[in-house]
Amino acid sequence: MVRVIMLSPPGAGKGTHSRWLTLQTGAAHISAGDLLRAEVARGSDLGRQVAAYTDRGDLVPDELIFRILAPAVVAAARDTGGYVLDGFPRTMPQALRAAQFGADLALASNAVIYLTAPEEELVSRLLDRAERDGRADDTLGVIRHRLAVFAKETAPLVDYYRNRGILLELSTDRPEAEVQADLLGWLKARGLMLPVNGQSRPGHTEPAEIAPPGTGDKSRDDQPVET
Ligand code: ADP
Repeated sequence: MVRVIMLSPPGAGKGTHSRWLTLQTGAAHISAGDLLRAEVARGSDLGRQVAAYTDRGDLVPDELIFRILAPAVVAAARDTGGYVLDGFPRTMPQALRAAQFGADLALASNAVIYLTAPEEELVSRLLDRAERDGRADDTLGVIRHRLAVFAKETAPLVDYYRNRGILLELSTDRPEAEVQADLLGWLKARGLMLPVNGQSRPGHTEPAEIAPPGTGDKSRDDQPVET
């Protein structure tokens, strides 16, 4: 099962491709930004602390991030066997602590997808999103700051994961279908794709490989339909 980290500057398509990957794999989608925004919307004390950082485009301190995210990751791995982590980790200290946490609980990540696009494309996508969604941090000044924070704090994770041999770099400055085909091909080649609903399990040969449709393989008629 996939246990994926989506690594990307704001606007490169983390959210979109995370949601798509979740549909493809059945692994739970955990969006750091969505969880933080939900906490802010609840109006809790924690939410007020979080908003002080997110509104400016600064990173939320690691302690708060782990308090909010760790239970979600554990629950996702327990319930779906995997996860698609969207927006976490985002700093080297977060990555190192996440690696320790993953090793301790046997749920370490097995793939990191690094999405890229030219900076001006990122800015223009985020300004478009601002008109659609009205997110508090999608203003030009805050967008530029978030991109600078990415370059300083998050970009070093690219080499860290590349050196561990689990990184795929993908340009998203092209049609979504091409990005998705490359992503799927890479995950398949690494043996990480188990289609949803258990329709294809390890050691389970697909019917088409035994008997193409119409060749009269009666032995399958008695078998329960898999849903
Ligand atoms: P984007 O990638 O467009 O910036 P996200 O929804 O992933 O959007 O994150 C929104 C904001 O939430 C970030 O700018 C940051 O303030 C905060 N945030 C998200 N993930 C983290 C994280 N792992 N560590 C610290 N802050 C985070």
